Amino acid sequence: MKPTVDVISLGGTIAMKGKNTTFGVVPTLTAEDLVEAVPQLSEIAKIRTHSPFNVPSAHLTFGDIFTVADEIKRLAAEGSTGIVLTQGTDTIEETAYALDLLLDLDIPIVVTGAMRNPTRPGADGPANLLGAVLVASHPSARSLGSLVVFNDEIHAARYVRKTHTSNVSTFRSDPAGPIGWLAEDQVRIAQKVDRLPLARSGIFDQDIRVGIVKLGLGDDGTMIDAAVAAGYRGLVIEALGGGHTSISAASALDRATVDIPVVLASRTGAGETLTNTYGFEGSEIDLLAKGLIPAGRLDGCRARVLLTILLFCGEVNKEQLVEEFLNHGTH
Ligand code: ASP
Repeated sequence: MKPTVDVISLGGTIAMKGKNTTFGVVPTLTAEDLVEAVPQLSEIAKIRTHSPFNVPSAHLTFGDIFTVADEIKRLAAEGSTGIVLTQGTDTIEETAYALDLLLDLDIPIVVTGAMRNPTRPGADGPANLLGAVLVASHPSARSLGSLVVFNDEIHAARYVRKTHTSNVSTFRSDPAGPIGWLAEDQVRIAQKVDRLPLARSGIFDQDIRVGIVKLGLGDDGTMIDAAVAAGYRGLVIEALGGGHTSISAASALDRATVDIPVVLASRTGAGETLTNTYGFEGSEIDLLAKGLIPAGRLDGCRARVLLTILLFCGEVNKEQLVEEFLNHGTH
């Protein structure tokens, strides 16, 4: 019997066309349109299509992702073999990671999109959709959490990042690399990652907002104070190097931690935040002593997703947040 794969389309470049060349492309195509453009899909699986949103991925919200997660749980309970989610690449790393945290399912959850829209020569959407459906219907892709399939590579949602504004090989998983690949339509899984869903369940709450502040040379801490004053319930700091700030920013962070949880991530894009190397004012030792929570290997975007979803889970105290970040920031 053929597997059943559910293709859920949220919009993004893969679904974009232009009214004319002056105004640029906008989300237009539905999941049905995307599937119709790749006739091979019907040979691989019975495809069901769903188009809950048709937006650029910059317009997606946490509320939308909770809606999609509920829809995926419903489809899994109805016997879906695997899920393919198509969306814009700009926020793939955040939505795929959010689904990784929210869903405790065995079936493959595969996110894909395109860098070249359907009107461009060499549009990559159809090939990415084919790859995603092949992975979603493959038994060896089960129990790996959310995956991003792009440009014939299979990435764990936990590690993948968009690294280039326009190149089709934009998705990378440093330092571990992709967990698998596609070759002549064969699915190869070379390394397995354990699923790491959150043990608690959250409910979307639009009043819970988490800010993210990237620091630079000589930062005076104004943005940090402003974020607290603006009512953010949590804050992620993309600090310098291994987790360092100016003296003014360190003072602002000291004030911030009195009111809200603050997570310390690095702006470098690789490596873990340090915990016990530097001792100057604004160093990681100083900031952790002031009450900041180390993000470990999670970059700022991913740390913001984790903190937001944890805050959606109701009362979580500082110790629980530290424990969750230690768990998710070291795997
Ligand atoms: N550049 C984006 C994309 O690849 C636009 C978006 O994220 O929706 O789809």
